[in-house]
Amino acid sequence: MIFSPEIKSQVKAIFSDFDDTLTHQSLFHSETLRTIEQLKQKGFWLVIVSGRPAGWADCLMRILPIDAMVFENGAGVMVKENNKIRTVRLANDQKIEEERKILREVFDSLKKEIPHLKLATDQPYRLYDYAIDFIEEPPPLSAKEIEFVLNRLSKKPGITAKLSSIHINYWCGSHTKVTACEYLLNTEGKKRHINKENVLYSGDSPNDEPLFEFFPLSIGVANIKLFWDKLKHHPKYLTLEEGGKGFKEFAEELLT
Ligand SMILES: [Mg+2]
Repeated sequence: MIFSPEIKSQVKAIFSDFDDTLTHQSLFHSETLRTIEQLKQKGFWLVIVSGRPAGWADCLMRILPIDAMVFENGAGVMVKENNKIRTVRLANDQKIEEERKILREVFDSLKKEIPHLKLATDQPYRLYDYAIDFIEEPPPLSAKEIEFVLNRLSKKPGITAKLSSIHINYWCGSHTKVTACEYLLNTEGKKRHINKENVLYSGDSPNDEPLFEFFPLSIGVANIKLFWDKLKHHPKYLTLEEGGKGFKEFAEELLT
């Protein structure tokens, strides 16, 4: 048993990362869909919080029974309203063209030092950020190369970078998954009388770390152990199973 009865009655919303938290070894399994359907039927407020592009968010919002999705690490959110999807852009888009040029130049300069560096195949569907793929498709980057890229990005003024389980995302501005979750809680959350104490956040990697700090209740699926030593803020709970199986493991407790 992961949760006490008090904690179970406190949780009214599940906010979850997508890649390697809802998916398992890159695939979205039928049992994960079934779990999400059951959580929805029970009345939980369901939000995906991801570094994936706006294009993915539009698709996932249409095909899954979720209420909202944070995309591109907090650049924006999509909210379901009366069978429509409303997009809220949270990143500053006044200088978007200029900023995209800067992000491209950063990538080009990094590629001069690591010639096999590549952008994620979902890059064309991103509005605000750049995503360097380190393991979604071959060839992978080594741990040393990932460190090198993160180090370089951390020295660029005005740029924020985060490591997910598959990509290194970077963007101009200071928005994050946390600022987008705060926006959702202050708007949609208020309407539902849900605050951050009522949310259980689930994730698997360093880009979830600010959420593990922000939400009092958080859970890591077992594959987070790969990044355990990199984290300053750890999830409050851990599942035994990895990815979508871990999601199902803790959701079943909330459903009973
Ligand atoms: Mg992930």
